[in-house]
This record gives sequence, C-alpha cells and structure tokens, in this order.
Amino acid sequence: MKVLKGEVRPYAWGSRTAIAEFQGRPSPSPHPEAELWFGAHPASPARLDGDSSDLLAMIDADPVAALGEPTAQSYERRLPFLVKILAAEEPLSLQAHPSAEQARIGFAAENRAGLAADDPRRNYRDSWHKPEIVVALGEDFEALAGFRDPAETVDLLRTLQVPGLDSALGMLAGSPDADGLRAVFTTWLTLPDRVIAELIPQVLSGAVEVLGRGESRFAGQLRAVLGLGEAYPNDPGVLAALLLNYLVLQPGEAIYLPAGNLHAYLHGTAVEAMANSDNVLRGGLTPKHIDVPELLRVLDFQPVSRDKLMPTVEALGAERIYRTPAPEFQLSRVELDGTGLRNPGSISFDMPGPQILTVTTGRIEAVIPDGERCVVECGEALWLSDDDPDVIVHAASSHAVFFRSRVPLSMEQVTAN
Ligand SMILES: [Zn+2]
Repeated sequence: MKVLKGEVRPYAWGSRTAIAEFQGRPSPSPHPEAELWFGAHPASPARLDGDSSDLLAMIDADPVAALGEPTAQSYERRLPFLVKILAAEEPLSLQAHPSAEQARIGFAAENRAGLAADDPRRNYRDSWHKPEIVVALGEDFEALAGFRDPAETVDLLRTLQVPGLDSALGMLAGSPDADGLRAVFTTWLTLPDRVIAELIPQVLSGAVEVLGRGESRFAGQLRAVLGLGEAYPNDPGVLAALLLNYLVLQPGEAIYLPAGNLHAYLHGTAVEAMANSDNVLRGGLTPKHIDVPELLRVLDFQPVSRDKLMPTVEALGAERIYRTPAPEFQLSRVELDGTGLRNPGSISFDMPGPQILTVTTGRIEAVIPDGERCVVECGEALWLSDDDPDVIVHAASSHAVFFRSRVPLSMEQVTAN
C-alpha cells in the first residue's frame, strides 16, 4: 500500500486551473497542465510518496508481488493499465488508437526504420493496443467520438447548405455506410491545402447562419465545429468533426473507445483509464505529429451510436462499475459518506491483482486491519499490490469519491477466489 503522486503532463491544450485546484495548489498554474498520470508507463511513472522511487521501479523490482502471478504472466510483467486525470481547456487532437495486432506490427516497423524511442515522428511508442474509457468529472465534458449514423450526417450537411460539401453529401447519401464514410473522410483529409483554406471558411459561415436561425438539433456540434475552425483554420480535422458523434457528458457518465474509434476530446475534466500504452495516430487539430495514411489504416469506419456508458451498481451501492470489453482494466466509481448520517461510509476490497484508487473528491483513509493506515488526498492515488492484505477504505471527509482501477477478473480467477 503506497500513496502515489501523479506526474503532470504540460501539453498546450491543458487547463491552468483545473489540476492545480484539484490538488490544492496555487491557481492559475504558470503553465498549462493537461494530464495527471497515475501508473507505471515509462514516459511518466507515478512517484511514491515519501520515497525517492517510482511505481515502475517498484513493480520491476518484484513484478509477481506487485501484480500477482496471472497478471505478471499475461502482461509481460508490466502493469496493464494507466489512469489519468484529464483537464482540457482547448481541444485535443483528432485521433485513434491501434488494435493489438496493428500496434505490434507498427512498433516493429518503426524500430526497423531506426526511429529513436522519443522521436516525435513516431506513431508507435510501444507494442500495445490502447482501448480507453473516459468518465466526466466536471459538468459538460464535450467530446467527438465515433462516426455518426451517415443518414444524420446527410441531414447536417443539407442544413449547412455549403456548395463545397455537395460532393461529400452525394457520396454519403448514395452510400450511407462505412464505405461512404471512408470515401468522404479520405477525400477531406487529403484535399490540397488551397482547397481546405477555401472550404473551411464556407463551412464556418454556414454554421454561423444555422446557429443564427435559432433552434437546431445540431447546435452543440456546430458550436464545436466553429471553435475548432477558429483554433485550426486550415485543418481538415474541422471537416472531419462534421462526421462524428458529438457528446456532452455529465459527472459520472462515460464513453468507451475501442481500437479504431476516431475521437477528439474538446473541453472539460475527466478520469481516463486505458491500456498502458502511448500509441496514438493523429489526423489533425494538433501541432503534434500527424500521419494520415497510418490513421486511415487503423480507423474503423463502421458508424456507432451516441449512447453513453453508464455504470452498474455493486457492493451495497457504494461502487459503480463501468463494464467494458477491455481485458487490461476495469474502472469503477466509489462514493462514500463521511458524516455518519448516510451509508455507506466505508468499503472493503479483497480482490487479487494490482489496484489504483484515484481520489477525485474529498479524502479517504485506507486501513489494513491490525496494520498500516494511509490517508489519500484529492488529486492523489493509492497503490495496492497483489500481495497487500485486504483493505478497508473509509471516507475521511464529509463526502469522498474515488475511482478504482484494476484488472478485471477472468473466469478462472473468479472460480479460484
Ligand atoms: Zn484517445
């Protein structure tokens, strides 16, 4: 049992207030703070409180004690998941993540090509896939995720009345499926700069006109497109945003992003859990490395619904689990009452495998009966090794919320337990 201090990633799209306030530091911070990582990824392993070491070094020193035999064996002695707090002031890049097979092949190919591990032109920084789940922390977390039903997109393009979009409209109306989406997206992302520079202002004026007419079911999406167009006036990602589902998540609501799902987070704070990888294929809306051909290779053009992922209630109502097909992680949200007036005020965990509890509201105290105690503040996390004894977690403030990340149990482990 160890308190973890997260590592701040200072990407330019980050907020100067959200993570600083969350951790009780002076706000605004001198630089944008985009992400706070709690995990053992070599790029930014979490520090151990009161120790000069970090989580990666601790796991490497005894992977079986930290992870348990099954997880150590299945994941090459690495922690299989990574947890992040995300604070987006500006939109993140338009991106997708590779499947396990694409990541293995891509990483090997870039190694053969002689790209250094930290070369900014790299798409593949490791050989792992990166399914991810994002759960809103604050209100109105905005995201674009997955290709929308093309029939809806046809309606949106008709509403915009931009002649430069007519051929795309024709393609989608004639082939309202994955093939039509592939054709339109590929066309847009490979348009000559000169054409893009003429087309985007037309799309933005179309959006302004629609918004000026009042009520439109596309209003949220069009405002997002306007924001992207202002930030990236010559970027085909602005056009791609017309093809995607626009979602606004409220606290506790989630989306799951499997391999090949095209997405861009626009604004807000969230908790993210993902497979422990840094593999991103970017198509635009970023000053970072873009690789359109590779993105086109990994994208899944099958339209997806706009449904949010809601958690299921477990363990006397304190824990709500977000069920996903990802084998590397299972994220749940635990809410505890510290006033003694309402239940539950505590929860006990007796599951095998590594766990990270990330506190997002208030303060918790973890107790090993007849043993250690640890207080974990908002903006910190608690690491539990496989070989730690069972712990009881109490609210140490009137209201405490934490997110629990762990490896989902396989059927054999459930039976053995
Ligand atoms: Zn992503």
